[in-house]
Amino acid sequence: MCGIVAYVGHRQAAEFLIDGLRRLEYRGYDSAGLATVSSDRRLHVLKAVGKVDALAEKLKRHWAPGTIGVGHTRWATHGAPTEVNAHPHRGGDDCVVLAHNGVIENYRLLKDQLEEEGYKFVSATDTEVVAHLVASCYDKLRALETEANDDPYALPIAAINEATSKLRGTYGLAILLRDYPGVIFAARQGSPLVIGVGNHEHWVASDASPLAGRTDKIVYLADRQLAVITADSLHVLERDIGTVSHSVEALNIVADDVGLEGFPHYMLKEIYEQPDSLTAAMRGRLNDVDATAVFGGLNLSPQQLRSVNRIILTACGTSWHAALVGEYLMEELARIPVEVEYASELRYRNPPVDQGTLLFAITQSGETADTLAALREMKRKGHPSLAICNVIGSTIAQEADGGVYLHAGPEIGVASTKAYTSQVVTLTMLALYFGRLRHLSFEAGQRIIAQLRKLPDLVRETLEVNNEVRRIAAKYCHADNFLYLGRQFNFPTGLEGALKLKEISYIHAEGYPAAEMKHGPIALVDEHTPSVFVMPQGGVYEKVMSNLEEIKARGGPVIAIAAKGDKEIARLADDVIYVPECEEFLSPLINIVPLQLLAYHIAVLRGCDVDKPRNLAKSVTVE
Ligand code: GLU
Repeated sequence: MCGIVAYVGHRQAAEFLIDGLRRLEYRGYDSAGLATVSSDRRLHVLKAVGKVDALAEKLKRHWAPGTIGVGHTRWATHGAPTEVNAHPHRGGDDCVVLAHNGVIENYRLLKDQLEEEGYKFVSATDTEVVAHLVASCYDKLRALETEANDDPYALPIAAINEATSKLRGTYGLAILLRDYPGVIFAARQGSPLVIGVGNHEHWVASDASPLAGRTDKIVYLADRQLAVITADSLHVLERDIGTVSHSVEALNIVADDVGLEGFPHYMLKEIYEQPDSLTAAMRGRLNDVDATAVFGGLNLSPQQLRSVNRIILTACGTSWHAALVGEYLMEELARIPVEVEYASELRYRNPPVDQGTLLFAITQSGETADTLAALREMKRKGHPSLAICNVIGSTIAQEADGGVYLHAGPEIGVASTKAYTSQVVTLTMLALYFGRLRHLSFEAGQRIIAQLRKLPDLVRETLEVNNEVRRIAAKYCHADNFLYLGRQFNFPTGLEGALKLKEISYIHAEGYPAAEMKHGPIALVDEHTPSVFVMPQGGVYEKVMSNLEEIKARGGPVIAIAAKGDKEIARLADDVIYVPECEEFLSPLINIVPLQLLAYHIAVLRGCDVDKPRNLAKSVTVE
């Protein structure tokens, strides 16, 4: 959650820190801060509650000089979002200053010990414990040091390693030490950190977006690693091992990918990017000769893949909804039994799992703490565990046995849109792939491929509903409750539509299988509670129509998402959003688009902060 940035080089650090924090805003946060060290070795710390803009305003009044610094956006876990609790935190007599992402689970015990040693705490955070702990380890080791070591950084490295070895929980840390001006120490365990490599300068950040447009060279720090970074050098060490070689990889996002390009919000921009992100997800993965899909990175032999007799899809939030669509698709096209598990449940549930079970962990960020833990648990039990994720080099991408990247580009809006549709199309291709390994005929494979090829244009056509959706949003934006109803492939579409509305407009919304509505939620129906029906042509159309009649009979307003050419629906629904006709298995990808737009316009009309909804974080790196 939240973010860390740091800079060392020849420019004013604070300029990058502010810009970098702005680019990490999408991750969700409640306060921000930065620290720089000027050439006279003075420490300058600025903090502000609320937006990065507030910090930038303060900076205008009190510039923080220096060519080295760290910055932080905080998503409070321990202690209220106040200025005192905002990072960076100081340790010892200011000999340490650091920013931290994550949670220190044993902070209470450590705090007691440090207080006994005489350290004074000013904040309620778990992070301040780390700052004093580093100071304490450093002071003790320095007192013991007898002879000079060849490595000028041996002492701080030993101190940070000792301090971090005492921490239980998760951390990404960017640390400055008074005795080592010009050096950033970066360490991680469970919270991501990347390093951008430049000409006589380095950047540190929680993900690659602050680096876009500054460098095209990136180093992904792994768990248990510590980086020692100066303007001209970068060394990576692993705890208990020592120096390890690091690979500098190409960073292929450009500044435009993280700009608004004329859209008022990232969410709207990302909704509109879906024809392109879907094209990118399918690029090079459809094979006409064999009428199947191809994936370069599954890393399993054909025998292993053919012997898969059960699939578990695990995920959280929106990705969990994509998994539910995947369940319908895999069972329909590949005839493989599929189970969808909340990662937060799977990690502790210890279900009996047979041989021949394959796990897919689905996550946009590749950092979701529960999904990572579920993946590790299944790996530990010896099941092949693959990832479907968007962020290249993320922890889950690195730890999985293999997987599929979404190639959706950076998703900045906290409420996921394009990553969701990329996950669903990836699962559709996987269903085709597993189907073709089994019973699916060549002709059926060809037909699916032909339909998939039309998908980007269908989504482009679907986006033409935008004005109509805005009109409908204005009509219903004052409602306090919504129901979202669909069946089969589009039951998860209903869940996802409801989640989008909840996330960004703070309206209570529930998704249900349309027929299930009679068993409880129908009690909520009245003239003030709109029901959104997702009802494409297909096997269950008539059934959903009956459910719609049941709502109308109780005076509930109905908004229907229906296929163009549906003559009947306009008679019954109060408002209809017509979308292009398509094969049923693709309909979740079409029908979700107007629901994303509906949530977006309602949130805008209600004056909500669409891209940074309250209380939410983009990548949920805590349990
Ligand atoms: N647990 C720390 C705090 O509450 C860090 C939270 C974060 O990752 O921003 O201050």
